Amino acid sequence: MAEMVTLTIDGKEVSVRKGTTILEAAKQVGEEVPHYCYHPGLSSPAMCRMCLVEVEGAPKPMPGCVTTVAEGQVVNTQSGEARHHRQGVLEFYLVNHPLDCPICDMSGECYLQDYVHAEGRKHGRGREPKRVFGRDDFGGDVLFYGDRCVMCTRCVRFMSEVEQDHRLTVVERGNRSVIDTFFDEGLDGTHFHGNVVDICPVGALVSKDFLHKARAWDLTHTPSICTSCSQGCNIDHHTRDNLVQRLKPRENLDVNGWWICDYGRHNYEWMNHGDRLEAPLVRGGEPSGAMGWGDALRTLLERAADKKGSVKAVASPFASNESLGALKRLVDALGGGDIVYRSPRAEDEVTLEGFPTLVRRKDLSPNTGGAGRLGMKRVGDDEGHGGLENVANHDGVLIVLGDGLLDQAEAFGADAGLFVYLGTHGSAAAAEADIVLPITSHAEMEGTFTNYEGRVQRFWPSLDAPGMARPAWLVLGALAAELGRGSVVKTAAEAFAALAAEAPAFSGMTYDDIGTRGAVVNESVSLTGD
Ligand code: SF4
Ligand code: SF4
Repeated sequence: MAEMVTLTIDGKEVSVRKGTTILEAAKQVGEEVPHYCYHPGLSSPAMCRMCLVEVEGAPKPMPGCVTTVAEGQVVNTQSGEARHHRQGVLEFYLVNHPLDCPICDMSGECYLQDYVHAEGRKHGRGREPKRVFGRDDFGGDVLFYGDRCVMCTRCVRFMSEVEQDHRLTVVERGNRSVIDTFFDEGLDGTHFHGNVVDICPVGALVSKDFLHKARAWDLTHTPSICTSCSQGCNIDHHTRDNLVQRLKPRENLDVNGWWICDYGRHNYEWMNHGDRLEAPLVRGGEPSGAMGWGDALRTLLERAADKKGSVKAVASPFASNESLGALKRLVDALGGGDIVYRSPRAEDEVTLEGFPTLVRRKDLSPNTGGAGRLGMKRVGDDEGHGGLENVANHDGVLIVLGDGLLDQAEAFGADAGLFVYLGTHGSAAAAEADIVLPITSHAEMEGTFTNYEGRVQRFWPSLDAPGMARPAWLVLGALAAELGRGSVVKTAAEAFAALAAEAPAFSGMTYDDIGTRGAVVNESVSLTGD
């Protein structure tokens, strides 16, 4: 058992592991000690001096980010003396700062702004002209506004310690010190550089993609999961006007730490596409045309009852566990049959040496882990195409739970007795299907994905669904229940409970257990497909 140390911080007694820093211990009593250079995922150079605290008995203020706790220690983070020292440090930071908050993308989430508001001087005393660096293009997605920099070196340490590609450095000395790139290509060609924008505590490093797009206080943050590979990085969707404006990493030490890759970070525009399926559509026979959900589902069940042939399905590894579980239930209710899925592969993994948990995986779908555990088989090539001949052509019922890949520009080529397509966007399959049912994307619903290691992770809706689109688990679950297979599920939690009751890999799990951190499936259950 770890050795514990008991100390008092701001009058509150707390016990923490030996070796904990005062800054981290203070978090446990609800105090945030101001800091710039400290980041829990990086080394601590103790150079910004913002985290000065008063330690009784110490001859001078101590930096909380590198001073470790001691038995019986008495620390004051909010005393007049501690705040006085930090106020002096803040004043130095503002000597050359341009105070351009009104046009700075970081305004509203800037630690310089926050700390000055909390404990800075009311008036500046600087009378000298300010030093001017201007703006520089650092390559990749990053612009550098040197005048806003507080020289914390988080960006330099991220590139050296995490990306392990020494692209940034400090040049010059004293008040001429400035961050710069080594070569002309700057950050071009690196795979995780977007994280330097996230960890820059001020508006010195900003994203070209997000430049002047939205004010921080207008954005709504919703926890989600990246859908760009099977790693399952935890992210937040930042939305405004029912559009995803940017993706940001969400800390989960078991999955992605504090970071995400640039590929996943920038793959969000598809969630904002307007070419959506918005109403159920029935083709051929009577009734036909656009119609309400009740009529469309009734027609589907009547036409399916006329088909005596087999039932086959194509699932999407972009669909949630709940939707895949409901698809399996419906296929069983219609008599049972093969369910296959297609999933694209990247040529290579993108790894970070020393960070084994964070890899941009070859498997570019978020939920092959769920599909495989439900007995669905992978078909097709590494681009996610082909492989459907045996399921798409038969006299019976073909159900295609469309994917978010928008990869169906090629003719889908189904020749089935009854072709039912559930999808988010217009596609070749939607153009050919007998019955088209509009479903929500993961950004418009609650649900779970199972990542490469079998970790089930929840996501929440960040956008309103268009038109009459509904979650696939609701539509498929209602059809299965109508055929006497399971009961009607009305919430994502109920849909997950129905899955857990039927699929051994998920048995015993609940939304509460999974929480915001995820939970690993029962590993005794083997995967089908790969
Ligand atoms: S650019 Fe940002 S992260 Fe880098 S040293 Fe300056 S303030 Fe720190
Ligand atoms: S590693 Fe995979 S899951 Fe993580 S951000 Fe990149 S693409 Fe998304």
